[in-house]
Amino acid sequence: MVISSVYMPWNDRSLKHVSDVETTIRCLQSIVDRFAGCLFVFEGDFTVNESSINECCKLLHEFCSLNKICWLLYDSDDSCYTYHSDGNGHYNVLDYFFCSPQMSADNNVPIILNDGDNMSDHCAISVTVSIPAACKNNTGDFSQQHRSKLLWVKANIDGYRTDLYNCLSSIELPMETLLCKECCDESHHADIEKYYNSILNGLKTAACNNVLTSKIGFHKYCWNPEIDDIKQKCIDATEIWKTAGKPHSGEINATHLRCKYQYKKAIKETAELASLELNDNMYSHLCNKDNVGFWKAWRKRFCSHNIKPTGQLNGQLGDANILQMFTEHFKSLYQPNTPNADLEFAKKSEALLNSTTVGPIPFIDTATINNCISSLKYRKTPGHDGISNEHIIYGSPVLAVHLSLLFNASLRHGFVPNDYCFGVTLPLLKNKHGDASKLDMYYITVSCCLSKLFECFITCF
Ligand SMILES: [Zn+2]
Repeated sequence: MVISSVYMPWNDRSLKHVSDVETTIRCLQSIVDRFAGCLFVFEGDFTVNESSINECCKLLHEFCSLNKICWLLYDSDDSCYTYHSDGNGHYNVLDYFFCSPQMSADNNVPIILNDGDNMSDHCAISVTVSIPAACKNNTGDFSQQHRSKLLWVKANIDGYRTDLYNCLSSIELPMETLLCKECCDESHHADIEKYYNSILNGLKTAACNNVLTSKIGFHKYCWNPEIDDIKQKCIDATEIWKTAGKPHSGEINATHLRCKYQYKKAIKETAELASLELNDNMYSHLCNKDNVGFWKAWRKRFCSHNIKPTGQLNGQLGDANILQMFTEHFKSLYQPNTPNADLEFAKKSEALLNSTTVGPIPFIDTATINNCISSLKYRKTPGHDGISNEHIIYGSPVLAVHLSLLFNASLRHGFVPNDYCFGVTLPLLKNKHGDASKLDMYYITVSCCLSKLFECFITCF
């Protein structure tokens, strides 16, 4: 399923506008062609009303009929609008959803959300589409998970705990495997794998329902608690205005607009203040530097974005040769340092196992689990499964019980889930301004959090 946001060029009623709209529709067409066979949802500001009689609207209708895409319409209501310019009293419906016919049903009527904390001159819109059963089993891939970040600071922790409790309670426990003392059954390994995946799914589902996500590097605007009050006032005034039938004049409308402008102004001022503060801090920071220190600090702050790709690398010139150099370098990184190292390690561990007498298998109780969980750090990079330390830290006591059962079964069977065998290797520049021409990098491997927690117990004994 492809979901795409559209922002049509602003309508300045010029001929160029029509050609810009045509170009944008060609982009949409290229998306439809590139993902042939997929389902599509397009949403956004189309700058025209569905019933308009003009060239742009005609082009959009043609695009829809050519690709058999449905234009989802609002319940007809004269007072309905998605764009409003309070200054010149201009109200219109310009924001729409388009979707593939398989997703469209009679109840797919979009809703306009006229929320008080929305500062845009466009209202938010929402729609429920039907997803055919065949699409529901496709889970996101690794790269998808890693383009967004869970915002645990804004999470509904109680909701997370409750949902996790419900998910974990519904797991069917592999009792025979969990109680097995001297194993002779290969199928128990599959049971451990399945049990581990059920716990993992519980953690993901509970987080998905209760933790907001943001694109990495997106969440950077400033905020302060005073704006929260102004925002709340604005929401309240909008609620009153909505209850009064969304009047375009009168005292209620005036109060609603006043609150909205105050909120807009407060955000603008806070942003300006933050930038001013940054300048002041920078000024005092730079004043304390000598000549060398000044330029060092200056480059650190401002020059990292100006780094240009090098034209020469290790004596090689030209893009093709440099690419080759990179390919060879990175290929070599994934080769073992010594070709037979694995065999050597196997021999060593075999010898170690033979020389050590096996004592009783330790038991991991929930108190030990809770101890290890309390040593986990916040805000660490999640492993390839998207599970972060916070998933475990905020888990309810019932999670500790399930982890205790899982880890004890793993110990007794000498078997760990497949996921523990994988890590993500991330290349990092030694410093932000490291010399790329010398391939000045180091590498870290991030393993999944549950495997790190398991290792934590192993090293305890
Ligand atoms: Zn067994």
